[in-house]
Amino acid sequence: MERAAQHKVTRIINPGTSIKTSQAAIEMSTQFTSVSAAVGIHPNEDVHLDESILQKLRTLSSHPNVVAIGEIGLDYFRKITPPEEQKHRFRIQLDLAAELSLPVIIHCRDAYEDTINIITEWQTAVGTKPNPGVFHSFSGLETHANLVIEKGFYIGVTGSITFNKAYNLRDVVTGLPLNKILIETDAPFLSPQANRGKRNEPAFVRWVADKIAEIKSVEVSEVARYSTQNAQTLFGWKD
Ligand SMILES: [Zn+2]
Repeated sequence: MERAAQHKVTRIINPGTSIKTSQAAIEMSTQFTSVSAAVGIHPNEDVHLDESILQKLRTLSSHPNVVAIGEIGLDYFRKITPPEEQKHRFRIQLDLAAELSLPVIIHCRDAYEDTINIITEWQTAVGTKPNPGVFHSFSGLETHANLVIEKGFYIGVTGSITFNKAYNLRDVVTGLPLNKILIETDAPFLSPQANRGKRNEPAFVRWVADKIAEIKSVEVSEVARYSTQNAQTLFGWKD
């Protein structure tokens, strides 16, 4: 947390992946004023999202420091959870977010078509709102990025943009408007190239911001200004 502050990281959204880690995220948000929490069941969690877990999530999300439902989504890379269970879980949590008027933090890996289809069904059912959420650690194609933005979502960029071979991601991000980009760690994973393989941490988003500034030929202060404003717009945290 001290290193984050030294690198001018002023706000941190800490998402859960299970009931336990969602509780831990809320706990941390009560210890640090710069931290807000998100609560959700990740697609890779080995659990069936039944009514009792949903009720626990609903209770957790009523904490004033909870600013989003997430991480939720689909992961066909690992498939720890069967896709049908993942879709079921994703739909239920999207409905919970609509019920609570909270944005969603979406985890999507090798599942862009199904994820976008489910989002489309959801928006048709509950109505579209201006800033429904973020596709975190975006790894899709330009066509996916365009669809995601069309549906009002932000795109989360992690340290993977600094990887030597991340030509495709850099191409996609070069074409994105700054007012649609969030910067993030995906900690403990995806440390930027300079620290690749080591545990990631919030201070390291400076390398993400530096790389975005470089490929878009803008000042890093502009990337920082936009990403902070975008996150404030999406998550609406109270100071
Ligand atoms: Zn994720």
